[in-house]
Amino acid sequence: MFYNSTQDKNKSVLSAQAIAQGISQDGGLFVPESFPQLSKDELRSMLDMTYQDRAKLIISKYLTDFTADEIADCVDSAYTASKFGSDNPAPIASVDYNGAQLNLLELWHGPTCAFKDMALQILPHFLTKSLAKVGGGKDAVILVATSGDTGKAALEGFKDVEHTKIIVFYPVDGVSAMQKHQMNTQEGENVYVCAIRGNFDDAQTAVKKIFTDPQTAEILDKNNMMFSSANSINWGRLLPQIVYYISAYCDMVNMGKVGFGDKINITVPTGNFGNILAGYYAYEMGLPVNRFICASNSNNVLTDFINTGVYNKNRDFYTTVSPSMDILVSSNLERLLYALSGNDDKLTKGYMDALKSDGVYEVTPEIKEKIQAMFYGGFADEDATAKTIHDLFEQQGYLCDTHTAVAVSVCDAYIKATGDKTPVVIASTASPYKFSKAVLGALDKGDMPESEFDMVERLHEITKADVPAPLASLRGKKARFGDVTDKEDMQGVVLSALGIKG
Ligand SMILES: *Cc1c(COP(=O)(O)O)cnc(C)c1O
Repeated sequence: MFYNSTQDKNKSVLSAQAIAQGISQDGGLFVPESFPQLSKDELRSMLDMTYQDRAKLIISKYLTDFTADEIADCVDSAYTASKFGSDNPAPIASVDYNGAQLNLLELWHGPTCAFKDMALQILPHFLTKSLAKVGGGKDAVILVATSGDTGKAALEGFKDVEHTKIIVFYPVDGVSAMQKHQMNTQEGENVYVCAIRGNFDDAQTAVKKIFTDPQTAEILDKNNMMFSSANSINWGRLLPQIVYYISAYCDMVNMGKVGFGDKINITVPTGNFGNILAGYYAYEMGLPVNRFICASNSNNVLTDFINTGVYNKNRDFYTTVSPSMDILVSSNLERLLYALSGNDDKLTKGYMDALKSDGVYEVTPEIKEKIQAMFYGGFADEDATAKTIHDLFEQQGYLCDTHTAVAVSVCDAYIKATGDKTPVVIASTASPYKFSKAVLGALDKGDMPESEFDMVERLHEITKADVPAPLASLRGKKARFGDVTDKEDMQGVVLSALGIKG
């Protein structure tokens, strides 16, 4: 299996190269040249498998330059009961909400309590094996721009992993108090964390620029290092996410919620378009899916795009209670455009160039039609998000986080608008305790405690929902990091964190 760049089809590499490099030199993203198919019999055979065995089967179809033992080693090291609380890292909780049954795929039982762990616990294993194949003895420098959850999950995944160093940038006012505390207290000898004055898009743009700057690459090369990426532009991030949609389908069949071969709907709270794209790739492999419901918060650039075919990032940016979705440039949409245009690299590059220069592009009527056939776009503002957290808890005693609430709200609106009775799986992406202030505020009109951990305690008193151990143990932990930089200075920060001169 070869991987091509979305902006230059002639570029063709094996998976180890795609994972080690993160992004193609032309600025495009690596995509598989075609999607391996899951036959009905194969899908049926997966019904009786563990999550881990399902993962091995699916991953082996993509990482054809890895041996079966290497893949098994990656999967078995990543998805352990000690890291994810049980043998199934992605359980489904079914609730009735406003008269419809919603199946919440809980992807946040990992070490940092967000769905990013599903990919970032396995990516370091993919990466070290890839480096051994194609790295030429260099150390990998992982640069991360984060809206909160990726940063912590990447730090936790890569801490003290040999031959890697990891540097994380986050928007200083764009993450929750818990997220900031999680990152700033990170342990490990090879980690560095820095805030930037700006929003997530600023951080992501600057990281991409450093990443593709030939001069910086040369400096690193001289020091026997190379850049790699843990952002969802890295193929090694997307692949593990395909697994849980297919696994969820098997679980839905086993739970009697959908007949084998019948279709499901999938709702995803969306920011960078990575999670929902992985679901779309599962569909391309043959997973029976009727519709993807793409849920945004007030930063509803994707809702407008799906409805009009025009992507326009020239709009106000809102800092919301679902910060991991506060994004106006959804990087992975590039991969969908490439797929829906029939792998047209020139067209895709044209859209991305227009986005860079003008902040806007419009897709062809054919692409728009294809998008609307598979995707429904909707958004939930801050009031709707809070109301959903409140109502879901009132109706079912189920506590969800702000991002998941956005998805539940949009899914509810979709069902009301269309009457679609297809069984629905909703990606539940974070523990509510990562966003205690907003969640508590939605449930309880009383005085808000001052400290983050008093909020956690109060939320637990009211709801009796378990506080995840990795969050509880952060109380009183001393911060190791606290630097803040301007985005113009990020490159210098990177070099000095690596201990090398520019
Ligand atoms: C990252 C994140 C999202 C958005 O996922 P994308 O893959 O960027 O679309 C949603 N919810 C939470 C909690 C996240 O951490």
